[in-house]
Amino acid sequence: MSQPCVNIGMVGHVDHGKTTLVKALSGVWTDTHSEEVKRGISIRLGYADSPFMKCPKCPAPQCYTVEKTCPNCGEKTEEHRTVSFVDAPGHETLMATMLSGAAIMDGAVLVIAANEDCPQPQTKEHLMALDIIGIENIVIVQNKIDLVSKERIIENYHQIKEFVKGTVAENAPIIPISAQQNINIDILIDALETQIPAPVHKVDKPASMLIARSFDINRPGASIDEIRGGVIGGTLTEGVLHPGDELEIRPGIKVTTEGSTRWVPILTTVSSIYAGATKIEEATPGGLLAVGTYLDPTLTKGDSLTGQIAGAPGTLPETRHQFVMELHLLDRVVGVTREEKINEIKTSEPLMLNIGTATTVGVVTSARKNEAQVSLKRPISAAIGSRVAISRRIDSRWRLIGVGVIKS
Ligand code: GDP
Ligand code: MG
Repeated sequence: MSQPCVNIGMVGHVDHGKTTLVKALSGVWTDTHSEEVKRGISIRLGYADSPFMKCPKCPAPQCYTVEKTCPNCGEKTEEHRTVSFVDAPGHETLMATMLSGAAIMDGAVLVIAANEDCPQPQTKEHLMALDIIGIENIVIVQNKIDLVSKERIIENYHQIKEFVKGTVAENAPIIPISAQQNINIDILIDALETQIPAPVHKVDKPASMLIARSFDINRPGASIDEIRGGVIGGTLTEGVLHPGDELEIRPGIKVTTEGSTRWVPILTTVSSIYAGATKIEEATPGGLLAVGTYLDPTLTKGDSLTGQIAGAPGTLPETRHQFVMELHLLDRVVGVTREEKINEIKTSEPLMLNIGTATTVGVVTSARKNEAQVSLKRPISAAIGSRVAISRRIDSRWRLIGVGVIKS
């Protein structure tokens, strides 16, 4: 399998079939966390790589498959391109995780179940999130067509068309599929090929990686000489990375001395790089990577570095404990049944802020109509001009209310 060249997100309402579709396209069931298996829903971001295969004999779209032999003519298929899937949770309480995943998506599949009315609350909230984060390459799938009549599929199609009118997904193709029964998967891959191209790689810049997950990969009770360093997972947005390269991670770790706290960047060296199960000698921007380091694994355990940035030492954006952002608020709250109007941001209110893969809470220290200054509970490393997804607590849940752009 070649290195993945693009990250494709799976978004949409809970139970509409995102994880099942990742399985149909990659063979990987991404809900592996014990709590996920127990509750039957995705809680963390799931990852899977998949080589799309192409039959040299059949025409498009029938030529596309994930199988090694063509399901139409039996010919041996050839590897076309490898993609990474980012499986987002669809439950309304997990919007922060969804937003953090959206930061690493180059494009997304909006999964809509044909056996329910459209839009369901998180169908709407996830589409709004894609819009806010700036993800424009979207394919809509109408899933579970095996459960409903042809008339119902057409009715649901019209509901979807009405729902996406005036949004970033207005012209997105709508592909009827069954993820569970493998229906129209070839047509879907064809749509992904044309709608979600690999991003243009800025490989001549210093390496910069958004960290989406971090792990301690050692088994409990591993002996000292078996212990492997901490692993970070995420995607390179710029530059290239090799084993042996030095790496800085920001904001790093919180150090408290004599009652005062500081955040100190971490310095380490890349020990190995994996794209899926393949060990690689050079990573380029595009798909998902697991980067081994020489860090103490307790520093990377349990996603503790999620939201941080890793890259060439001395080149990362500064660590910010506060910032001023330009505001673009939505008119109404989405993702709830009762869509109330969004009021202006007020001084001293807490906001949940998603910047890249980072999630932090900021308290508003001053607010004007189009601008707000926030003081962060947890600092972030982000450049001027970065987008911020802004959520407010409404009825005890964080709800997306708009987008900000860091000004200073
Ligand atoms: P997610 O919450 O969006 O990740 O949804 P899952 O992939 O976990 O699927 C939710 C449920 O719907 C599971 O029981 C799946 O087996 C079922 N499901 C998913 N896709 C299909 C489909 O195409 N047809 C049918 N009949 N069931 C499906
Ligand atoms: Mg799922």
